[in-house]
Amino acid sequence: MASQEWLKLGSVFAFVPLVSSLVELPITSAGTEVVLEAPAQKGWVLYTVRPGDVLGQIAQRFRVDPRAIMWSSGLKSDLLRPGMQLKIPLSGELQAQVRLPPGVKEYRVMNGATLERVAAKFGVSLLDMVSANPGISSLDHLAEGSTLYVTAGQKGLLLEVQKGQTLMDLAEKFGVSVPRLAKANALRSPLDLKPGDMVLIPGVMARTTLDRLVEKRRQELIAKALEEKRLAEERRQKQLAALRRKQEEARRTAQAQSSLRKLDASRTATATRLRQVGYSDDGFRWPVGNFTITTYFGGRGVYQRYHTGLDLAAPYGTPIYAAKSGQVEVAGWSRYGYGNHIIIDNGGGVETLYGHLSRFAVRSGQWVERGQLIGYIGSTGWSTGPHLHLEIRVGGVARNPLAYLP
Ligand SMILES: [Zn+2]
Repeated sequence: MASQEWLKLGSVFAFVPLVSSLVELPITSAGTEVVLEAPAQKGWVLYTVRPGDVLGQIAQRFRVDPRAIMWSSGLKSDLLRPGMQLKIPLSGELQAQVRLPPGVKEYRVMNGATLERVAAKFGVSLLDMVSANPGISSLDHLAEGSTLYVTAGQKGLLLEVQKGQTLMDLAEKFGVSVPRLAKANALRSPLDLKPGDMVLIPGVMARTTLDRLVEKRRQELIAKALEEKRLAEERRQKQLAALRRKQEEARRTAQAQSSLRKLDASRTATATRLRQVGYSDDGFRWPVGNFTITTYFGGRGVYQRYHTGLDLAAPYGTPIYAAKSGQVEVAGWSRYGYGNHIIIDNGGGVETLYGHLSRFAVRSGQWVERGQLIGYIGSTGWSTGPHLHLEIRVGGVARNPLAYLP
């Protein structure tokens, strides 16, 4: 079975290398058929010894020095036993014995070499190079250390002779006369050609192979460009995602701040509502429901040159509620003109005084809650009409009640 095969495409030949799993070798000793594994071009093959095998014959078959087989197989002698595994090296020795047509040179691929650079080095065309190496799979990716053939003289297609292939077969297959083929390969007899030999088919060029390789390179460049585009797009998307994350974070922060502002506004609104329903932040409320302010703090009163409280006029008997919670300190008659008055200790050095009451609703020493009924409007003491004299003292000093009331 051939390891390489030609496909006929119209009038042009395309070279398609086939990877075969088995390579059959010529039978050199009667009754012994040898089947072994590829890869036959480089490295080594494993050979299982059969009855009747002789090391010299195997070495001849593989065109390898028998000592090389002994060395690589770890043999102490050349005596073989059936079933024994031989490791047969194929590299140097085989290459050295490959028959090359005149004018064909071997070139060992160096790192980074491309087919174009090698062609330029030898002054041949890319088509010449592809024709001399039709099994090549890429113009750009050459395996370092692999061998390239260069047709320095006559140009043409360089092929390995397959088992059973004759000079006449090749001449017929490629439409070249036998004498021309024999001359190009310096063959004295058509029978000089052995399988594994390299044969030059003059004037036949691997145009289709070159086209295929050029197309392959184009596709690779396109694929590379697409991949670069894809990577660029990926980078762009990542940047966009990062930007979106930042924006989202900023939005959340703004939202949180807005929520805080709303909460503040809500607290303020609550305070406002508390004020509207009659409670201040300081815990004071108006002690009378309906009233008229007749004298403000600091103004000149009927009996005082300096008014120490706030006068709230309301009908006689109107209920008076505690402006702030605390303990009733005094609930009785005043020697200082307040008449029936109540003093509540609100704690923290704050006292509230309610004067001119008609009646009391609490007793001294009693605890009262804010808004609790403590007495009724009257006009006792130094008073000209029913009203409540409300006084707020902080640390014993009278302060303007309007500063504390809602
Ligand atoms: Zn007063």
